[in-house]
Amino acid sequence: MKKIFLILTLIFVFNFNAFSQASSVENVRIRLFSDKNIEQVMFIPSFGSYFLETEQGDKLKLSKTTKLIVKDLDGQLEIKINDTIYKKAKKINLTPSGLKSFFQIKPLNPQITERRYEDGLEITSKNKSLFIINVVKTDNYIAGVVQSETWGATTNIDFFKVQAICCRNYLMNNLEKHAGEGYNLCDGVHCQAYKTRANKKEVTEGAYKSKGEVIVDSQGNIIETLFHSNSGGETVNAKDVWGKDVPYLVSVEDSFSVGGKHYQWEKYIKLKDWLNYFRNKGLNIKDKEIEDALLTFSQESGRKTDIMGISLKTIREDFDLKSTYFNVQKWGGEVKLTGKGYGHGVGMSQEGAIKMCEEGYEYWEVIEHYFKGVKVIKQ
Ligand SMILES: [Zn+2]
Repeated sequence: MKKIFLILTLIFVFNFNAFSQASSVENVRIRLFSDKNIEQVMFIPSFGSYFLETEQGDKLKLSKTTKLIVKDLDGQLEIKINDTIYKKAKKINLTPSGLKSFFQIKPLNPQITERRYEDGLEITSKNKSLFIINVVKTDNYIAGVVQSETWGATTNIDFFKVQAICCRNYLMNNLEKHAGEGYNLCDGVHCQAYKTRANKKEVTEGAYKSKGEVIVDSQGNIIETLFHSNSGGETVNAKDVWGKDVPYLVSVEDSFSVGGKHYQWEKYIKLKDWLNYFRNKGLNIKDKEIEDALLTFSQESGRKTDIMGISLKTIREDFDLKSTYFNVQKWGGEVKLTGKGYGHGVGMSQEGAIKMCEEGYEYWEVIEHYFKGVKVIKQ
């Protein structure tokens, strides 16, 4: 009896910890301009006011017109306020004083176009350049990522909900990605592109209305939300691309991708190059049957995984093809590849998801169409 009680207690404690960890992330630390060495940067409050604090314990209120310039000086920061030197410090925190605040940040050396972000900022010096961290509310970060990655494709709010939920899944699964460097995620494609705050009404509405929602598999684990541009009409098993079976990343029929912007493609390759490629892979191209198979390869009746044992994934990489979903025909001295879809084809087709949302499907129906056996839950 005691044993059962102990096990139940352990299960409860474990689940409680897992749950509270995921749901208690109110702020995240995102490194800005992470792919550049920034020596000098300008900060201007755009909305609301900010406090400038240093490790020396001082606190100065900045108004909306204050121009703050921070320069790296051999491991120290030189702070200028409205072109006058204010002081030197090792660490600067810019904390918002109101409920909603955002700022403009512009690297001056090197010169990079200014960006706008919400909430706080922390600047230190590391390896002779500025180490700039946006300390941002999780929901504001998610909205910013959705706008950075998908704005321009549609104005459909449900699609932005789908994107926000996928983005939240990624964040939850990767909170420790840069833990050793003192932040959660970077602003580049290495993590998720985060180049702006969200200021488009449809994006913010989509992000905030799906607040706290994540996608879990049948075991309750937060899933990896892989996506691509267009599936060509049928998505791909994760196993066929990466060799690892993932129960929710399995092939589904996808009529919603048909006719999308990246639905079709063509490519011509010299006949000699095509055949020699397979000869170098060990095939006897002098054998008429093998040659025929290489010149008449077809996926008309559905996606395949290889051409005579050579994986389509490898062929796609070697010939720089938009997808693995193509047919081959001889075309004079060349072969003509007629293809469908764009990207690896695993998980969600972005163009298909947009089409579903525009046709009136609910955002969770879109998610359940592309990821098998999953559920959207609110944390
Ligand atoms: Zn990163």
